Order: sequence, then C-alpha cells, then structure tokens
Amino acid sequence: MLAPVTDTDGSPFWQYAAQGELRIQACADCGELRFPPRPCCPHCQSFASEWRQVSGHGRIWSYVVPHPPLLPDYAAQAPYNVIVVELADAPRIRLVGNLVTEAGAPLDSLSPDRVRIGARVQVVFTDTGLPQWILERP
Ligand code: ZN
Repeated sequence: MLAPVTDTDGSPFWQYAAQGELRIQACADCGELRFPPRPCCPHCQSFASEWRQVSGHGRIWSYVVPHPPLLPDYAAQAPYNVIVVELADAPRIRLVGNLVTEAGAPLDSLSPDRVRIGARVQVVFTDTGLPQWILERP
C-alpha cells in the first residue's frame, strides 16, 4: 500500500484528509493560499498560517500516463493516470493525484483514454485518507 510521507509543514493536510476534508494552507495575515505547505507566506513573508477548507471541485489541468520503468508498487498498477487538478475555488492551487472510478478504487480503475484536460472532477478520500479524484460526470 502506498502511504503518504508527512512532514511538519504538511501534516495538517493529511490530518484533515483523514477526516475527509480537503484543506489548503492559507496565510493568516494576507489570506493568500499556498501549496505545497511551507512555513512562510511567499506573498507577505508572514509565518502565521491557517488551513482553509475548499469545495473539492476542480478541473483536470494536465495529466500523464506513466510508462515503464516504474517503481514496483506502481508497475503492478499500470496503466494508470496521474492528473493535475486546478481547484475551482482556488484556481492557482494545483494538486497532483489519480483519477479513479470511486473512492478507494485502484489506480488503474479508470481507462487512461477517459482522461480529458478540462474535465470536472471531485475529490474523494480512501479509507487511509489519501485524496483521489472522480469525474463529476462519468
Ligand atoms: Zn501572506
């Protein structure tokens, strides 16, 4: 099983994800959202931050279908997709993930030819709190 590796800056992201919430780090002074999580606001240099819940709706901004050689855990699941999602309520924030048929479905559950740039997607979470994405209109 592939599990996220957390660090101090990113651990709140995973704690919220484990509760089924997609939250993005925001500056507590100027309000600017930032991702990936980091200690300092790139906009105003403040070290104060908060975690703002987002809708989990977005669009596929880009994607790839990885080809061998792949790490063994991934090779066993190929062919699969890796998508970049632009969040609907935070268009400058883009998250990398996988488009699957339902929460917890394997990486290869959706044929790569179903992936289209611009398609609307919705976040779902596995039992272990890993965000995945499903098509809003399969
Ligand atoms: Zn700021």
